[in-house]
Amino acid sequence: MKYGRTYNFSAGPATMPEPVLEEIRDEMMNYRGSGMCVMEMSHRSKVFQQIIDEAEADLRELMNIPDNYKVLFIQGGATLQFAMIPMNLMKNGKAVYIETGAWSKKAIAEAKKYGEVIVAASSKDKNYSYIPDCSDLDIPEDTDYVYICENETIHGVTWPKLPNTKGHVLVSDQSSMFLSKPCNVSDYGMIYGGVQKNIGPAGLAIVIIREDLIRDDLDPKTPVYMSYKTHADAGSLYNTPNCWAIYVCGKVFKYLKSIGGLAEMEKINIDKAKVFYDFLDQSRMFVGTVRKEDRSLMNIPFVTESKELDAEVIAYTKSNGFENLKGHKSVGGLRASIYNAMPKEGVEALVECLKDFEANHNK
Ligand SMILES: *Cc1c(COP(=O)(O)O)cnc(C)c1O
Repeated sequence: MKYGRTYNFSAGPATMPEPVLEEIRDEMMNYRGSGMCVMEMSHRSKVFQQIIDEAEADLRELMNIPDNYKVLFIQGGATLQFAMIPMNLMKNGKAVYIETGAWSKKAIAEAKKYGEVIVAASSKDKNYSYIPDCSDLDIPEDTDYVYICENETIHGVTWPKLPNTKGHVLVSDQSSMFLSKPCNVSDYGMIYGGVQKNIGPAGLAIVIIREDLIRDDLDPKTPVYMSYKTHADAGSLYNTPNCWAIYVCGKVFKYLKSIGGLAEMEKINIDKAKVFYDFLDQSRMFVGTVRKEDRSLMNIPFVTESKELDAEVIAYTKSNGFENLKGHKSVGGLRASIYNAMPKEGVEALVECLKDFEANHNK
């Protein structure tokens, strides 16, 4: 590991690709002859306009985003979207949500403030350890959209197959899986995510939304910032955006292009996650908490037989240079987040460390 860095398994903000951090370092004092750092630059300058335009163009290329979708860079993280979505997309005041873990649960609670929320399926009965069957949901005709969290960061479940929305608009929170594999954008009305999990620095959400869903007849009390139309009409420059995060995300998009795009990224991620899941499946001490078919490529929760032993393992991994393996406080146990930027060597090294712990413990 260069620079004395550690393998960081944090769920977010999370590890970044080193070549990107190095490029940022090199451009810190003087961005390409502009005489200033990007964080000192006017968002109305030509230089910044080029940064945001290129970021959007590269993202469009990576995800193959059709022309009838807008790409918006909005502050407030993914959490603000929990409110913006019902505020903007509830035309009839009715939406279907699927409850698969902590993040969809939060989105449901927020949406209830704005209209009728029908929870058409839930995996609460088994502590959100699987994705419920959504091939034949009961969806009222006048439902405005069907909402899913496509990768539950805390519970570690991911959708192996999208729900059958019966022709209704699908809205997906992809925060913790954004750009981890190819995505067929036209299957969705809207895709969004906070970028600090799998892309860049915190404080920015990217929204990819089909143009016909952007409305100009919202409740007049809707804050101007919270209308998608505001951001779409202004090219994400209605007010000062998170310039720094947009700049860094743009670098990550270029980095992903350079390694072969999302198909290549998916291969790497499958290969990498397999190292960890193979370990879990043969271990007598560590157990994965998610049904096999619904296991995430990005967030892997696992447990030992007791809280005490979990705590011992966390301390042991930390003393060996592996950071942030503690599970989320709401679920306990352990969690390894192995986003795009986590190298396979990091996962292999962690597995070796856990194997050592297990072997020593059984002596
Ligand atoms: C982290 C996360 C959020 C919340 O993101 P913020 O940017 O902190 O608001 C929402 N959904 C998912 C799936 C997440 O992982």
